[in-house]
Amino acid sequence: MKKLTPFNPEDFLILVVDDIRKNLQLLIEILDASGYGTTFAFSGKQALERLEATEPDLILLDLMMPEINGLQVCQRLKENPKTQHIPIIFITASNETNHLVEAFELGAVDYVTKPFKTPELLARVKTHLQLKRTQDELERAYEEMKRIAATDELTGIPNRRSIFKFGKQEFELSQRYNFPFSLLMIDIDKFKTINDTYGHDVGDEALKMMVNITLNCLRKVDYIGRLETEAEALSKQGHLGRLGGEEFVVILPHTDLKGAYIAAQRLREAMTKETLQVEDKTVSITVSIGVATYDSKDKKMDDMLKRADLALFAAKKNGRNRVAIMHNEQLKLSH
Ligand code: GH3
Ligand code: MG
Ligand code: MG
Repeated sequence: MKKLTPFNPEDFLILVVDDIRKNLQLLIEILDASGYGTTFAFSGKQALERLEATEPDLILLDLMMPEINGLQVCQRLKENPKTQHIPIIFITASNETNHLVEAFELGAVDYVTKPFKTPELLARVKTHLQLKRTQDELERAYEEMKRIAATDELTGIPNRRSIFKFGKQEFELSQRYNFPFSLLMIDIDKFKTINDTYGHDVGDEALKMMVNITLNCLRKVDYIGRLETEAEALSKQGHLGRLGGEEFVVILPHTDLKGAYIAAQRLREAMTKETLQVEDKTVSITVSIGVATYDSKDKKMDDMLKRADLALFAAKKNGRNRVAIMHNEQLKLSH
């Protein structure tokens, strides 16, 4: 993982807000001398305008200002998702400290009382910038770890755990609202032969090709018969995940058996049309697909997976490059 970035004042922009020009100048001079980037506003209104165009890393905010005061500015910023993460340090006169409880309640991180001591001001500024940066970096690292934990490294699509998680959510929606819902179990035919003939690297390329073809195919799924919004169409789009090896699953929300069968056939056919060029050799793949659809008797997604697996097994046994459906304990095979 990436190391935490060393602290460098030039990397930061600080917005200073004070209605008294002399105070503002002093604060800006101190921050400038330490190397920070600065920008300023003479009023609460101007501060809010500034924040529409710039994104400071920290705000030094005067508490008492005419019209919109510091507390009101703070409240507005904390209500806005675009600005709520920016740390705010209040600058208060010693006779205004009774407002500080409110300031903290509104989300301020700290305060400095006027007249302030320069080293103390700078220490507080640095502490909060560092704290914010560390929080951001940890959050990013956490997001990255989550992404890695959910992704298949070779192909970049969801791995077994994450596609099953998605599938289980869809399963529960079908159970509750009786939505149609289907899934496809896909297995590349005689994949071992591709590895044995051309080597493992070509096998890996073939897996990536299979994923690309499938994703393209799923994006093209069209729902004939009625006009739909884009959101509706997207919610029906299939989601592909790798179960392991050369086995994949496609989750098809809001798709009945007929729709799933059409998608599976389209997929199977698309595979036969693309090839992988390896030096002077042309590698092609075919897939066998097992289709299962939600049945109100199903207790969990595993019940559907079992049917899809049985259908896949039948597709293999009957010659591969085939789609098979397992519906109400009945098997239907087709090329
Ligand atoms: P079938 O038509 O019955 O499915 O035959 P098959 O050869 O595809 O099935 P089998 O399950 O016997 O072989 C799967 C092969 O997939 C074996 C393994 O070496 C290969 N494999 C699994 N994961 C990877 C991978 O990440 N990269 C490559 N290149 N090969 C893999
Ligand atoms: Mg196989
Ligand atoms: Mg296999």
